[in-house]
Amino acid sequence: MNLPFKTLPELFQYFRNEDIARDFLERQRWPDGKIVCPACGKRGAYRNADMRSYGCRNVECKSKFTVTVGTMMENTKLPLAKWYAAIWLITAHKKGISSCQLARDLGIGQKAAWFLNHRIREMVTEKAPELLQDIVSVDETFVGGKITNMKKTKRKYYKDIGKDNKIPVMGLMEREGKVRLEVIGYNDLKYMVRKNVDKGAILVTDEHLGYRGLDNEYNGHVTVNHSHFVYTQDGFSTNNLEGFFSQLKRMVFGIYHQVSPQHLQRYCNEAAYRYNTRKIKDNERFVDAMQKTGGRLKYKDLIIPKTPTYNGKDLIEPSK
Ligand SMILES: [Zn+2]
Repeated sequence: MNLPFKTLPELFQYFRNEDIARDFLERQRWPDGKIVCPACGKRGAYRNADMRSYGCRNVECKSKFTVTVGTMMENTKLPLAKWYAAIWLITAHKKGISSCQLARDLGIGQKAAWFLNHRIREMVTEKAPELLQDIVSVDETFVGGKITNMKKTKRKYYKDIGKDNKIPVMGLMEREGKVRLEVIGYNDLKYMVRKNVDKGAILVTDEHLGYRGLDNEYNGHVTVNHSHFVYTQDGFSTNNLEGFFSQLKRMVFGIYHQVSPQHLQRYCNEAAYRYNTRKIKDNERFVDAMQKTGGRLKYKDLIIPKTPTYNGKDLIEPSK
């Protein structure tokens, strides 16, 4: 890929004014030059004289819109160059970047950086994921902050309900290819496997009872024994996945310190995206992420509810 920037300073230099940044987004969204109306979907909108907005040619629609309408950047107060720098920083850093660090790097407020971070995570979330193929390792881990590191009110909440903040996450990994992470409730193991793995694949799992019966549905099912530290059996293993899990935990503990349960899936998607694009260069990953700007994520939808839930489900394991 031939891009005019290979490093972050070059990116800043390239997007030195907002018009260039806007043109770039326009080319990413509509590579054939036919501007699509976000309200009615009609192609070939015209450009207004200000060069910064468009008008729909559909006489029943006549919408006026800008390049960011219908994207994660819609209604943003930040210059697009800062968005691009943030996309670069988040996708290029092996473990991601905290909102405090992002705020310092870009000279913006911490709250703005936090919101930016979440919208970029949403961007790189696979919208229509393909089923995993070939030999697929499946394993579970617990991700979450230590209660002692929490704010007093949160600590009290977890103490009162007698639960900790550890959330089960399933990892599914192709031998040479992609990984996917799913935040799970513990009864959902088979559901998550079926949702993510092609029936022609061979599954490699631990001996958890929750996987029983999948042999009948899949091309093969190999179980490996964790309790005896035998991770390899007949050449099948979950070793790569174990390695990826420890990377995920280092990311959550080291960079983000603590992740709220209802946001964890988005952090998982960020980690999976980085892994799945590990073979391409930073500038190529940036452009790849720029293809995925469609969609919205509103601030009010991110505010932490009192009870930690995800998709309406209580995620916390009952204490034993
Ligand atoms: Zn229209």
